[in-house]
Amino acid sequence: MSVPRNCIRCGKVFTYVYGLPICNDCRKQDEEDFKRVKEYLYDNPGASMSQVASDLGISVKKIKNFLREGRLEIVGDGANMFLECERCGKSIKSGLYCEECERALKEDLTKTASELKKELNPKDDWYKDGKMRYLYRDKK
Ligand SMILES: [Zn+2]
Ligand SMILES: [Zn+2]
Repeated sequence: MSVPRNCIRCGKVFTYVYGLPICNDCRKQDEEDFKRVKEYLYDNPGASMSQVASDLGISVKKIKNFLREGRLEIVGDGANMFLECERCGKSIKSGLYCEECERALKEDLTKTASELKKELNPKDDWYKDGKMRYLYRDKK
């Protein structure tokens, strides 16, 4: 079902169907910008992000978004690594994390999930018979 919503880019009310709440005009503009950035990088493999932004009149934020969304991957031999891994700061081509961190984070997630499951029950009992409050008072 479609509902009227405000476009997150231009604020116009439009009929929202799926995905990001962006109106057709802005979506088309996005596609257009995306294509231009891609072509620009193809022609200028050593260009920096600010160079791309000023030459094409597209905001750095938007270009970064393309990269974050994984739509745009920096081509070439690391000449233009725009992004940094959110965890270790290593240069990456697209997404949020480098390969190592992505793997580590995934392992962490599984570990935390299983640890949480283990801890949940004993902790509940502990709290219920009031020992936690007692210990807290004792410390002070
Ligand atoms: Zn719009
Ligand atoms: Zn990393």
